[in-house]
Amino acid sequence: MAKVGVLIEIENGEVKETDLGVLTAACKGGGNEVFAIAMQENTDAAASVLAEYGVNQIVQVVTKGGDIKGSPDFETRILAEAVKNFELNALLGLASAKGRDLFARLAAFMDVPLVSDCISIDLDAKTVRKSHFSGKTVATLKVESELMLCTIRPNAIEAQTMPVQAQTVVFEAQAADPGLTKITDVKQSTGGKVDLTEAGIIITGGRPIDSADNYKMLDECAAQLGESTAVGASRAAVDAGFAPHSMQVGQTGKTVSPKLYIGCGLSGSVQHFAGMKTSKVIVAINTDKDAPIFNKCDYGIIADMYDVVPVLTQVLKEQSD
Ligand SMILES: Cc1cc2nc3c(=O)[nH]c(=O)nc-3n(C[C@H](O)[C@H](O)[C@H](O)COP(=O)(O)OP(=O)(O)OC[C@H]3O[C@@H](n4cnc5c(N)ncnc54)[C@H](O)[C@@H]3O)c2cc1C
Repeated sequence: MAKVGVLIEIENGEVKETDLGVLTAACKGGGNEVFAIAMQENTDAAASVLAEYGVNQIVQVVTKGGDIKGSPDFETRILAEAVKNFELNALLGLASAKGRDLFARLAAFMDVPLVSDCISIDLDAKTVRKSHFSGKTVATLKVESELMLCTIRPNAIEAQTMPVQAQTVVFEAQAADPGLTKITDVKQSTGGKVDLTEAGIIITGGRPIDSADNYKMLDECAAQLGESTAVGASRAAVDAGFAPHSMQVGQTGKTVSPKLYIGCGLSGSVQHFAGMKTSKVIVAINTDKDAPIFNKCDYGIIADMYDVVPVLTQVLKEQSD
């Protein structure tokens, strides 16, 4: 039985939904001892969810050494201390903005290799899978270090409940803030309420969206598809000024892995697919029956998106009323 730590991201008192898949990977059907490391003093609201997803120990970090949220270097040192204190064999986290930043710092600080953005993980074999060359190949990598340090692509691993008795452990970290960097301001992206990389459903508009204003049609549909839905854009739409770059999906945009990806007016370019090909179900709406996207999707609708999307929105609205 391995001891596996998971860095938990808590927002407004709630565990991020995308963390639940990471917990599923960590507990491996109950075969491992799972430590949820929460960098905050109060984890009460999150405790029941963590226990539902296989966490044995909820590690609540307390410190007198500085402000955890304001200093990623300080957070790194606390994490390193927790890894040693709980004698963890692996530490996992989300390949989110926070995870990508912290795990890279931790790898450098502990001098341990990091595998980022994994799409699956085998903790017994110490192997991970991740996509390479803009999604053209998937590599299986063997981790040779004693400690496995990995970030997991949001939504790549399906969350499964594994109810256990969880206990909360207060961990008083001794580390001090080295004062190297300080977060002074956090700005939310303008691309929408839900972060594209963590959205459960994405509806994307391509070049024929034709104006920034027409994204309202997709926003309205997204509102009916549920609160974990985000709206994306192709590079053609971004380059034309219809959407900000923060909404771009693809090789030079964001890499996403939602449960459902609805592409409206996308031709299906390799560069766009590089960013969303690991989506669980892909639906394409395109007027051209020969569009390449129809060879790569699970469901194809040969129709005008301006006809289909409003009908979809209306049907979803009627179902929820
Ligand atoms: C180095 C490099 C990096 C790139 N990175 C990215 C990236 O990150 N993301 C990205 O998206 N692209 C990227 N691209 C660009 C990419 O090659 C394509 O040009 C782009 O993805 C095309 O966008 P599109 O599908 O919206 O537009 P188009 O290719 O113009 O396709 C529009 C599609 O909409 C259909 N259509 C037209 N009207 C309607 C309608 N009313 N209803 C339904 N369907 C309709 C058409 O039949 C057509 O198939 C990159 C290119 C390069 C060279």
